[in-house]
Amino acid sequence: MQISLKGQVALVTGASSGLGAGAAQGLADAGAAVVINYHSQPEPAEKLAEQIRAAGGQAVAVGADVSREDEVEKLFAETLKAFGRLDILIANSGLQKDSPIAEMTLEDWNTVINVNLTGQFLCARAALRQFARQEIRPEVSLALGKIIHMSSVHQVIPWAGHVNYAASKGGVNLLMRSIAQEVGEQRIRVNSIAPGAIRTAINTKATSGDAEKKLLELIPYGRVGEAEDVANAVVWLASDASDYVHGTTLFIDGGMSLYPEFRNNG
Ligand code: NAD
Repeated sequence: MQISLKGQVALVTGASSGLGAGAAQGLADAGAAVVINYHSQPEPAEKLAEQIRAAGGQAVAVGADVSREDEVEKLFAETLKAFGRLDILIANSGLQKDSPIAEMTLEDWNTVINVNLTGQFLCARAALRQFARQEIRPEVSLALGKIIHMSSVHQVIPWAGHVNYAASKGGVNLLMRSIAQEVGEQRIRVNSIAPGAIRTAINTKATSGDAEKKLLELIPYGRVGEAEDVANAVVWLASDASDYVHGTTLFIDGGMSLYPEFRNNG
């Protein structure tokens, strides 16, 4: 099946690196105009936008902290200014601030919840408000709009030493499902992607050297994921090829969520 997102506008948060950058590139390759949001690093975001434009696509880089309401509003205003509408939101920004629970500061708890969960709420709300101002264009897409939340296998797998992160992703699961239940009849599709271990800046330590060998024990499919594995799923979920997929989480994890410790009879 040939997937085309021509005539659609996609906003990807946290797209100056890792999965967000991969998603932005994948969406642009499929023909979408993309807004590449960055937080603190304009250079890689500008470079990616330039690459996409040089290949004949449409892209702009826009800075914003997704945990701040005023900055999210500005990000969406800039999106409209650049491309006049919004069809696809990839709420991807996320971070980790790890420590054992007894040592976790309130600041580290709040930072992770504010970016990973509140940031997804603020961006989804802004996208839904924009979709409500638009009409379905059946020749372009069967849906009025599409939202993809970047979750994690840790929306279901508890994670010692990372309780803020796991709590934020558990929250994303019910945020996504509740929004999906609420807005489905408006022909707005809302889904999540739950990556396992994908090689990006967020987990450089865990995906290199001896740590990688240990990590592979947790991945039945026997390899660490690449940003492209997630980008392919993003493009499919953003397209009409997945038009009847709504309110679900697609695990892109090489089987990490299959309780691999039980492979040899537990
Ligand atoms: P990454 O560190 O490369 O990307 C995270 C991005 O979020 C960065 O571009 C960063 O600038 C951005 N960001 C951080 N704080 C922000 C803020 N306040 N406002 C706007 N943007 C902000 O790591 P990644 O692996 O690409 O992570 C992307 C998403 O995928 C995250 O939500 C992460 O939780 C999720 N994820 C990643 C993996 C993995 O194995 N890589 C696994 C599961 C889930």
